[in-house]
Amino acid sequence: MNLHTHTHYCDGKSSIKEIWDAAVDLNWQFLGYSSHAPLPFDCKWAISDKNIQNYCNEINELRQNKSDTLPFTGWEIDYLNGIGFPSLKSKYIYNADFFICSLHFLKSPLKKQGFIEIDGTLLDFIRCLSGYENSIEMLMSAYFSDLHKMLTTLVPATKIIGHIDKFLLNANKVPAFHQYKKKFNDMLLEWLEQSISEDVIIEVNTRCIYKYNWIEPYPGITALKYMSEKNIPCVISSDAHHHNELDLGFEHVYKICKEQKINLNFINKQLPDIIKNNRTAVNA
Ligand SMILES: [Zn+2]
Ligand SMILES: [Zn+2]
Repeated sequence: MNLHTHTHYCDGKSSIKEIWDAAVDLNWQFLGYSSHAPLPFDCKWAISDKNIQNYCNEINELRQNKSDTLPFTGWEIDYLNGIGFPSLKSKYIYNADFFICSLHFLKSPLKKQGFIEIDGTLLDFIRCLSGYENSIEMLMSAYFSDLHKMLTTLVPATKIIGHIDKFLLNANKVPAFHQYKKKFNDMLLEWLEQSISEDVIIEVNTRCIYKYNWIEPYPGITALKYMSEKNIPCVISSDAHHHNELDLGFEHVYKICKEQKINLNFINKQLPDIIKNNRTAVNA
């Protein structure tokens, strides 16, 4: 079971059917698709507007198959400062089964820079940093401020918060960040504490493990320990961009949890019911 998958409708390498076949081979009870929803500016990894309906139709067709693997239509939607979730304007996206809510862009204080991707290239990250007077502290504050706002912005279906500390992908490559690591972790735990009173599910994302050989997923061990202590509901996902990646990194995370005595409240198995109940609530 994995709700975070990308197909060739956005920046994935496999078709909807190929991902589906791989999930059936794994004997999964369900599978979620989460294409990158379109943005109000050019973005090379997002689906194009003209393909939104085809994507939904193709998943709906799979649902007609009397198979033991149930497909869910989802989207990875971007939170943008001052805008919210712009892609929810599309009725096809609004009517999805679930959303992976992610923060990939920060708004630069410099008007001419606009929104800059912080987990894209290191060059973009540094460009974004320059907009914040080259202050890592200011950039971190902007990141967490948006993360807090994203937490309280409502979505019309099951809300999963994606890769909460993906900021680290580039921040770890900037020497000036190292003295702020503790502060970053404190801010992350503070954010997790706030998440407890919101109706959200936190994603444990394994992509950095199999793609970059990291030893910890997003979020890392400190956050996982806190999530275990507070019994915060979470799901494991691989953020797959290829049908061979559907469950990559899962065993690694289970092993870390065992070694570190982390007992995460994984709700993967309850997800079909949670998704159905949330949809009923929206339609009522
Ligand atoms: Zn993402
Ligand atoms: Zn993704």
